[in-house]
Amino acid sequence: MKSRFLQIISDYVDDLSHIIYPNVCQNCSDVLISGEEFLCIKCLHKLPVTMFHRLSPNPVEKKLFGRIPIKKATSAFYYHKSNSIQKLLHKVKYKHKVKLCAKLGYLFALKLEEAGYFENVDMILPVPMHKSKFRSRGFNQCVIFAEELSKYSSIECSDSALKRVKSGKSQTKKDKYHRWKTISGDFICNDREKVEGKNILLIDDVITTGSTLEACTKAILNKTNAEFNIATFAYAD
Ligand SMILES: [Zn+2]
Repeated sequence: MKSRFLQIISDYVDDLSHIIYPNVCQNCSDVLISGEEFLCIKCLHKLPVTMFHRLSPNPVEKKLFGRIPIKKATSAFYYHKSNSIQKLLHKVKYKHKVKLCAKLGYLFALKLEEAGYFENVDMILPVPMHKSKFRSRGFNQCVIFAEELSKYSSIECSDSALKRVKSGKSQTKKDKYHRWKTISGDFICNDREKVEGKNILLIDDVITTGSTLEACTKAILNKTNAEFNIATFAYAD
């Protein structure tokens, strides 16, 4: 497991290497030309957008309706095995590509604006990471996404109002009920006053079963009468 210090060094070396080696597209590895950043124009235009905001209810809402009282929910991109979004998120998470994460956050913001997801929102909340995971990874990709959305929309972002108090072991092999049972007590509302009565936009990287989003929303709603909109960067079937 890499320490945070080593990750910062590796990021620095990565930056230096760009002086010697040309920047390449993070999806197809073609050399980038002037004006391109992280993705070549071809890959950028081929990103698998969902256009879920045009459907009512859309697949994310179908997953969450009846479980938590949300106003609306969406995902910006499809996440499939070996597709560009899976590849890019893998690089962000396991190769410490923080700047790439910020770029994806900006693309996420463009999609959310198109879908009207910033309208009347008071606060952006990212799904928090447990401190032990944060220590090993060095950053929370959801916080970076939320900060980019905040920068783009000028809506306040809080990464402290919601706290993850349990580390949440890998749940991929558990069924829906057992996933929910495991995760339901993982989050707490850490700042009741901050979220009371607010219209919240809750952010996660990928939605699969929706259990994490359900647990986060319930943790806040147990303490306050906030309202919820949900947006994830990616949608996995
Ligand atoms: Zn490319």
